[in-house]
Amino acid sequence: MDLRVCHLYPDLLNLYGDRGNVLVLERRCRDRGIDVSVTRARVGDALDARTQDLIFLGGGEDRQQGVAVVDLRRRAADLGAAAASGTVILAVCGSYQLLGHVYHPAEGPALEGVHLLDLETRHPGRGARRLIGNIAIECSLPGVGALVGFENHGGVTDLGAGATPLGRVRVGYGNNGEDKTEGAMQGTIFGTYLHGPLLPKNPSFADALIGLALRRRFGEVRLAPLDDDVESAARRAALARIGASYPTDRWRGRGAASS
Ligand code: GLN
Repeated sequence: MDLRVCHLYPDLLNLYGDRGNVLVLERRCRDRGIDVSVTRARVGDALDARTQDLIFLGGGEDRQQGVAVVDLRRRAADLGAAAASGTVILAVCGSYQLLGHVYHPAEGPALEGVHLLDLETRHPGRGARRLIGNIAIECSLPGVGALVGFENHGGVTDLGAGATPLGRVRVGYGNNGEDKTEGAMQGTIFGTYLHGPLLPKNPSFADALIGLALRRRFGEVRLAPLDDDVESAARRAALARIGASYPTDRWRGRGAASS
């Protein structure tokens, strides 16, 4: 059994250790005897997205997004067809915004996105508050539990009816700092503002994505449990930090119990 992973724009969209997400996918597969190939595709590179099981895109600031989106639009139909056939797409922050209908940056013209996620994002402008800090959400996917991470975005995102929130914000801002939604899911496409990176501290989410990505070619796969002591310690440390910066006793209790 093998997993084909593509890291799209690894040089252009890569903030706060986003690359660590790909390392975790590789490691958690190899530890289970599942082979992994990682393709790195940059702007202009040839890629048949339909050959990939999981495509990862990281975050970037407005300037990088302006470059990436031109290439992304060229790939929109291919990415859509891949997702329709079961390819998992995971997009963090800047790329999450671009998978939607439109991103209005702080300055300059609107960037039309690729319409794969039913959402819109607007940056209120330079000088507006940025949504920065540690974040914890309760993931909507069954069995995944709490996700912890770090967010830093100016853009505020509103979901349309076609997208489901990835989770509900317990501590932090999430999509817009208002409605407690964080991230989006639509079929096998996932978007989130969680950097930090996301998957090393959230192994249950990493495994949910691996299972979903393997399903495309291998059907339902039972993933053997791994020793997650280090990951659990990282989660506990992240939750403790969140507790310190956002003193919420109830959340601290829940976090400690679920990690
Ligand atoms: N430029 C976007 C924003 O500030 C994305 C930032 C990011 O990827 N961290 O909203």
